[in-house]
Amino acid sequence: MINCRQSIESLRPYIPGKPINDVKQEYGLSQVIKLASNENPLGCSDKAKEAIVNALDEVGIYPDGNASYLRKALSKELNVTEEQLIFGAGSDEIITFITQVYVGEGDEAITCTPSFPRYASAVKLMGGHIIEVPLKNYTFDLNGIVNAITDKTKVIFIANPNNPTGTIITKEEQLDFLKKVPKNILVVMDEAYSEYITDDIFPDTLSILKDYPNLIILKTFSKAYGLASLRVGYGIAKESIIELLNRVRGPFNVTTLAQNAALASLKDKDFLKQSIELNTTIKEWTYEKCDALGLDYIPTFGNFIMIHIGVDTLEVFQQLQSKGIIVRPGCFLGLEGWLRVTLGTQEQMALFFEKLTDILN
Ligand SMILES: *Cc1c(COP(=O)(O)O)cnc(C)c1O
Repeated sequence: MINCRQSIESLRPYIPGKPINDVKQEYGLSQVIKLASNENPLGCSDKAKEAIVNALDEVGIYPDGNASYLRKALSKELNVTEEQLIFGAGSDEIITFITQVYVGEGDEAITCTPSFPRYASAVKLMGGHIIEVPLKNYTFDLNGIVNAITDKTKVIFIANPNNPTGTIITKEEQLDFLKKVPKNILVVMDEAYSEYITDDIFPDTLSILKDYPNLIILKTFSKAYGLASLRVGYGIAKESIIELLNRVRGPFNVTTLAQNAALASLKDKDFLKQSIELNTTIKEWTYEKCDALGLDYIPTFGNFIMIHIGVDTLEVFQQLQSKGIIVRPGCFLGLEGWLRVTLGTQEQMALFFEKLTDILN
């Protein structure tokens, strides 16, 4: 037997939800709705589709390793230098760059739990220890994190809004926190869902980046832009952090199709606006529906919502799946009694509530 590295022993492969086609086959269903992975129910921009088709002739050649056009466009849009940006195969990949650069054997990183599971796996991969502070009121406990800092702490991961709870830390809370964190600890502000938020209390992290040399912002094209399958996300930080992250990045990590689709998506402000408006409408509708049914929920800032059903979530998840609706049960997320439901279209949500009430009755 070949022994693996010790840090690999504690890792487990990610178990994704079943693909739509498998569920169709297994239950003999013609229609299956997936509300499990926070994907955009509108798909992506038509301009992105066009850009993908136009790039098909280039699939035989390696992509632009520098993502030059996407980089230029984003640097202009965000008003940062091109050297302040790094691109990844999803922001997921950038999380692994961060731990590869900053977390060594025995080092510590802090986050809250439950939150995005990729932080813990990226830290463990490097032989580091992940310190998981429980959420407080379903929200990141920033004081708890500050209290957990030791001289081994290298990185702090904050999902804002948090996945799976949809809660945020506010502008004021963020500033107060950043002032308390020593500058030799990297703070990762993972803002995968920030495009959906129009509320003033949400931090404008970009505007304070110059004041905090230990800060990196992560964004993605997977959620509001609807490009999840293409795998493209980016990080924004000061140049010297990006330079280090670039040392571990593979030379061609973001495909040509992904770069071109992201660039086209960035220019299509109408599609983004439409996605945000739909999400807001469906969110309000879902709140009303939950209220009417007497179901508790956590008010959300993302494109997903936690709904309290109180009973065995694995059982309800399986029954929903057999009726053609895939959600994420709380038992997989560390929140038994709850379901995480991606906000879909009006028809999808109506069908979800119809099947759910069938099951709960
Ligand atoms: C979905 C998500 C991501 C990133 O997804 P990618 O597709 O890898 O860009 C990152 N953080 C959180 C909290 C998410 O929910």
